[in-house]
Amino acid sequence: MTNTNPTQGTLFIITAASGTGKTSLVKELLATTKNLVVSVSHTTREPRRGEIDGEHYYFTNRDEFIRLVGESEFLEHAEVFGNYYGTSKTAVNDLLSAGMDVILEIDWQGALQVKKLIPQAVMIFILPPSREALRSRLMNRNQDATKVIETRLAGAVREMQEYVNFDYVVINDDFDVALSEIKSIITAYRLAIDKQTARHEKLISQLLVS
Ligand code: 5GP
Repeated sequence: MTNTNPTQGTLFIITAASGTGKTSLVKELLATTKNLVVSVSHTTREPRRGEIDGEHYYFTNRDEFIRLVGESEFLEHAEVFGNYYGTSKTAVNDLLSAGMDVILEIDWQGALQVKKLIPQAVMIFILPPSREALRSRLMNRNQDATKVIETRLAGAVREMQEYVNFDYVVINDDFDVALSEIKSIITAYRLAIDKQTARHEKLISQLLVS
């Protein structure tokens, strides 16, 4: 897979420890940015209350997931907190080819796998403003059992240590500030010379005629 073609979309990877507010940021980002989509992952995790199959995740079982891995269906896949998660290769490829910018909301293991395959992918890491904020966001979410929350808190530190491998770091203290910072990153990529030249070919050729 390649997306060096300027008419292709850009792949943005957004990673954060659970409870950093990543999902809310991505939701608002999608609602307020044109031509941007999130890739819907497959997971073997049980759906949470309100989660819809095909919208939040494709909920699947282990056997089916392992079958899809065997068929090389995934661009990346990883085990996170005892469940499998994976990104559909075909879906991402089709969206990028259609010129859409695509967000992968995935963990650090998956992020590093994708970066190896697609070096031009843009990696954004979101950090919480403090450890206390992370803990209380996890507790307030209250959608997982206490044991699950403790496991996720322990995993958060491990996950955050990986921020050094990313291209950009956004701290989610003030939601609106974090949102506008992520938008700025996306906008900068959209304004790159190769993208703009492809997008405004006609205008540029008219302007440059002597
Ligand atoms: P949750 O179960 O809270 O929805 O997600 C748990 C973790 O799995 C989060 O860090 C989330 O970003 C990550 N995740 C979700 N989808 C994928 C995926 O397709 N691949 C990988 N590697 N991680 C994923």
